[in-house]
Amino acid sequence: MGATLVLNATYEPLCVVPLRRAVVLVLAEKAVVVEPGETVMHSERLAIAAPSVVRLSRYVRVPYRREVPLTRRAVLERDAHTCVYCANRADTIDHVRPRSRGGPHQWTNVVAACARCNHRKGDRLLGELGWHLPSAPVAPPPTVAVVMGWVTREPTWARYLATGKGGPLELNFGDGAADVAPAV
Ligand SMILES: [Zn+2]
Repeated sequence: MGATLVLNATYEPLCVVPLRRAVVLVLAEKAVVVEPGETVMHSERLAIAAPSVVRLSRYVRVPYRREVPLTRRAVLERDAHTCVYCANRADTIDHVRPRSRGGPHQWTNVVAACARCNHRKGDRLLGELGWHLPSAPVAPPPTVAVVMGWVTREPTWARYLATGKGGPLELNFGDGAADVAPAV
């Protein structure tokens, strides 16, 4: 509730900001509304449709692609809150190669797991249990960092995010955005 997706001038997703911040950007003409929201915000003198998605009027250079922070929540999100070992609902994360046995704390070594499987697995390797992974864990693409946890809550954002579903994005470069350097 009360958040706005901010796109760069090139339509690249940049961040999620509180609704009020987005309204300030729009009023200051630093951003334009791409997708109007459903709610209307009132101040003393004016009413403004709370934007669901805004695009910055000027291109902002992003110095590097942020990596998705490796948190419990992010791992659960990547693995759809599903235990990789038994497909039940997962609430914990498991280091495939246990940390006690040299397993790194990296995207490629962590998976979502239910508490039961996590407990049964303990400090053992998959080979010792006869367990295996349905697929090798990977780091999510950087754009996911922008919207981690938001996609399900804000379905209208999906088409602005290259998170897989729905194929390639259809971009509409109008309003003078064409002379802007593409994001790296
Ligand atoms: Zn399980």
